[in-house]
Amino acid sequence: MDERVVEVALPLPLYATFSYRVGEPWAVPPRGARVEVPFGNRKAVGVVTRSGIAPPASVELKDVSDVVDEAPLVEPPLLDLAAWMADYYLAPPGECYRLVLPPAGIRASRTVVRRIAGASAGDESAEDPLLLALGKGAMPVSRLASRLGKDPTAGLHRLRREGRVEIVQDIRAPAFRNVQVASLVDGAEDPKPSAQAEVVTRLRAAGGRMRVADLVRDKASLRGAVSRLAEKGVLRLEEERDVRSPEGLPLRDVGRHTLVSDQEEALESVGAALRTESFAPFLLHGVTGSGKTEVYFRAAEQALALGRSALFLVPEIALTPLLVRAARTRFGDEVAVQHSELSAGERHDQWWRIRDGEARVVIGARSAVFAPLPRLGLIVVDEEHEGAYKQEESPRYHARDVAVMRATLEGAVVVLGSATPSVESHSNALRGKYRRLTLGARIGAHGMPRVEIVDRRAVLKAGGDAILSPPLREALAERLARKEQSLLLLNRRGYATSLLCRECGQQATCPNCSVCLTLHGRGVRALCHYCGHDVPTPGACGVCKGAYLRLSGYGTEQVVDVVKAALPGARVERLDRDLAARRGAVARVLAGFEAGETDILVGTQMIAKGHDFPRVTLVGVVDADVGLGLPDFRAAERSFSLLTQVAGRAGRAELPGEVILQSHWPDHYALTLACAQDYDSFFEREMEFRRTMAYPPAGALLNLLVRARDAGPGAREADALGRRLRDAARGRYRVLGPARAPLARLRGEHRFQILLKGQRAAMRAAVKGALVERYGASRWPGIAVDVDPVSVM
Ligand SMILES: [Zn+2]
Ligand SMILES: [Zn+2]
Repeated sequence: MDERVVEVALPLPLYATFSYRVGEPWAVPPRGARVEVPFGNRKAVGVVTRSGIAPPASVELKDVSDVVDEAPLVEPPLLDLAAWMADYYLAPPGECYRLVLPPAGIRASRTVVRRIAGASAGDESAEDPLLLALGKGAMPVSRLASRLGKDPTAGLHRLRREGRVEIVQDIRAPAFRNVQVASLVDGAEDPKPSAQAEVVTRLRAAGGRMRVADLVRDKASLRGAVSRLAEKGVLRLEEERDVRSPEGLPLRDVGRHTLVSDQEEALESVGAALRTESFAPFLLHGVTGSGKTEVYFRAAEQALALGRSALFLVPEIALTPLLVRAARTRFGDEVAVQHSELSAGERHDQWWRIRDGEARVVIGARSAVFAPLPRLGLIVVDEEHEGAYKQEESPRYHARDVAVMRATLEGAVVVLGSATPSVESHSNALRGKYRRLTLGARIGAHGMPRVEIVDRRAVLKAGGDAILSPPLREALAERLARKEQSLLLLNRRGYATSLLCRECGQQATCPNCSVCLTLHGRGVRALCHYCGHDVPTPGACGVCKGAYLRLSGYGTEQVVDVVKAALPGARVERLDRDLAARRGAVARVLAGFEAGETDILVGTQMIAKGHDFPRVTLVGVVDADVGLGLPDFRAAERSFSLLTQVAGRAGRAELPGEVILQSHWPDHYALTLACAQDYDSFFEREMEFRRTMAYPPAGALLNLLVRARDAGPGAREADALGRRLRDAARGRYRVLGPARAPLARLRGEHRFQILLKGQRAAMRAAVKGALVERYGASRWPGIAVDVDPVSVM
């Protein structure tokens, strides 16, 4: 063992860690500290995973070139979590550690040397040059070195032994920005000149206080007036710390609901678990509209009262501005919002506020599961069944499962909430692994909505419209007449689903992927939803050069046009991923709908999520079959849960609700049971299928994807791995494939998959063994390992 040798993980797709030596013996960084090291012919910033280890034999160790943080910035449970992820998901350790550490490029801790008071009193003449350079106080070692013009290491070492200086870690968030804020002074006289009067009017409208930048944003010429008003004493200018945070909806106080008995009981159980300060997992099964959010918020209040912090995970934060607003209303400045679409500045500020305990309530999408909250007491995973919690790129973690592991490591309570729990979580609850909480009653006067399934085959035979069947159109017209609102779900964005050649029957496909192009912008642009390929819609067939092309199928864009044509005068808006790409657009559309400025909101699954609109009395599902036909064992579960949730959006307050589903398969169990809101029957039916097929939770899955530019070499690699995995199976798992993946080509690469079913630990060990044997311990080129895959496309 050598105390100066550290093991470092680099944030690269490398499965191995590397050993380095530290130059200064007094500054050996502990586990979790970041260091800059030479790697190949460049430098890379990695994280120390162990320090004081035995140096590997036969290798000449390189020195760490710089210590970025000399103390770890996060607590041990987060470091343990990263290590667990690397092991469980067979993921590169450096990529896992990067998730729990601060955003890149921040130098946050430094080594400071400080004079010990009184140590050299009365001995000024014997002052050595190091102490003279240091002066009376403290100084970063790096500054001392430049002042001396030489390396102070040896001298500092001696002075520390003599008890004359101490060497400490100074951890500090880099400076936040300041902004200038203007506020009106009470009782000041109204100004005469028009520019000054306008400034005062604007300030009054904003409640008397406003950032100067916002005040003059659309009229820079007002800036002079602001200064003159400040000189006159009409307004006051102050500096305020600017915490950059994403744009949100204006706050609205919705008050505290009184709890019903189911909610009381659930809160009671969670509260009791919080007080024990030890790990406790719950599954909160509550039908839509049963008041899960209020239970979450009260539990968070209890956690805060116990001096602990709370973390809320939602599937996609951009889609849940209303939940964010509700949390901000309830918890004020304690709330930090974290997700992957923040700007670098926002991410930085939020990270530090959380780490320093200023924001003790964090809301975020899956990566927020790594938020550096000190003393974490409660984790809520809302809509725990959502596939969006799975990261589809390396490291391929599932945020719900990581949340449960984090709660274990932190001794925290974790609440998984859903109206339609995943088959896995429900099964865990039945087996007693999770404690089950149930919210049965739907809050509000009218109970469950009335449901009608329209058989589209009959509608088409009778010559009716494929998009708006007569019953759906009538129901929409009634709502317009009564000034009530409607939601229209179609889980397919764009204008048309494909471009078809009338001469040869071919569809326009993506040059990089084995999928059809989708038409957008009323059919003007052709897009690949997988790789982003985006071209003007071709005028001729790519195969036969024929010029007679036809748009076929339809998406949300076209539904908006059809609805507008069928119901002139209706105010229609659209909500889908294309819209969400514009920052703040989702919040604007939702706010408009909430304010009653929109009659009909057309959208993808985004409209089914967690919004509570009291004036919605009709939910129409344009095509309930979308997704059911996919070659994926979770297709029925996804459809069931989406339809149950969207149906639950109808009639949530004083007005009764109605749901109309259009389908070609009106008898499919996912549809009929969703209409009946019958979760238990669905679960039984689905479990039977999973048991027969040994799909999760009846058996674990591991998907191994081999990607290659050319099909031949890719197929040979997949064959070799498949053989090796079969040899190692010994009855503990089954090997399916290799076969071409359902998405056989993606972004120009051919894809082959090997699907393993059986005992998870045995599969992980066998896959790791096979990959190390074939490619070595460090790089597995072209291979993607997915433990517990959500999608096997
Ligand atoms: Zn053609
Ligand atoms: Zn593509």
